[in-house]
Amino acid sequence: MLKFILLLLLVSNSFAALAAKNLVIVTIDGLRWQEVFHGADLSLIDNKKFVENSVLLKDKYWRASKNERREVLMPFIWKTVAKQGVIIGDRDIGSKMSVANNWYFSYPGYSEIFTGVADNSINSNKKIANKNVSFLEWLNNNNSFKGNVAAFGGWDVFPYIFNTKRSHLYVNAGFMPLTETTTGYAISQDMKLLNQLQKEVPSPWHNVRFDSFTYRFAKDYLLNKKPRVLTISLGETDDFAHDGHYDQYIKSTQRSDAFIADLWHTIQNTAGYKDNTVLLITTDHGRGSSAQDWQHHASKLATETYMKDLNKFKNGIVGSNNIWFAAIGADIKPQGEIVPDKEIKQNQIAATALTLLGEDPKAFNAQAGEPIMEILK
Ligand SMILES: [Zn+2]
Repeated sequence: MLKFILLLLLVSNSFAALAAKNLVIVTIDGLRWQEVFHGADLSLIDNKKFVENSVLLKDKYWRASKNERREVLMPFIWKTVAKQGVIIGDRDIGSKMSVANNWYFSYPGYSEIFTGVADNSINSNKKIANKNVSFLEWLNNNNSFKGNVAAFGGWDVFPYIFNTKRSHLYVNAGFMPLTETTTGYAISQDMKLLNQLQKEVPSPWHNVRFDSFTYRFAKDYLLNKKPRVLTISLGETDDFAHDGHYDQYIKSTQRSDAFIADLWHTIQNTAGYKDNTVLLITTDHGRGSSAQDWQHHASKLATETYMKDLNKFKNGIVGSNNIWFAAIGADIKPQGEIVPDKEIKQNQIAATALTLLGEDPKAFNAQAGEPIMEILK
């Protein structure tokens, strides 16, 4: 009997070695590949229309070389993820990634990331319950993941994207507080204060909170509940860009990088997560590439329908379908910047996540995009 148990332990251990035990996904809304790979853009830093104090911004973020610029903007991405992990999407070196959906805005993008399919009937950002099943919902219905999956986001549409009515996933988004009733654990004094501050600190937007709240709540949940799958969707970058505040967009990008650094440090110093967790980082859509259109994102079809206010852009916001992706951790091949043979699509992220967790993406959804095999060990 003892021999049998030992054998069982050996078998289960070797299975565990094949897959990451935990998965964390961070999305940074509408952060352009241009900033990720080139750092801050001089034509926008110097534009009085978009920046209050160009001298200060230039001093902090402008450097002569592209490599220095991107390192000063996103030090964790470039000094750690791009060294110990992998990054895709620098179109200047032919590393291409884009959305598969027809729209180039948020709801279709997040749905594509988390369901693995581009559903073109999702043609607005309206609060409509997603008829597609996310891989989070699918995992949460699987016994070994039940209650071990959670999503945090800045935007109040996430409960609809994850269809919480049907999925029963724990989703904390918009201006929701962290409560004992919904999390199942006692809320600390620090988190009680954040709940209060969230009501008192005025957000510039009615439907998106500051990323600091989203990140602090998500980190607290991670440490208390130890979920196996956690997603954190940061939202400030997109809203500051829409508002035409390039300075705030750049500062928010740097804060997002700092949150991810703190998250990875926490993961690597927490029992149960250390060395068996994979972190994926990506975005829902790109943006325009010039002073005329960097604030916006939409396909030609979107400007003809849902986003008619952008219809002076006759071809839509060109290039706003182009995105980027980075990964670090268990089972990710450390290879830095890679140039895949063919363009990677946003609909491949769900299958990649499931493969990393040792789950069969075909069992989840046979229509989902293929896993990004290039990044796997
Ligand atoms: Zn947007």
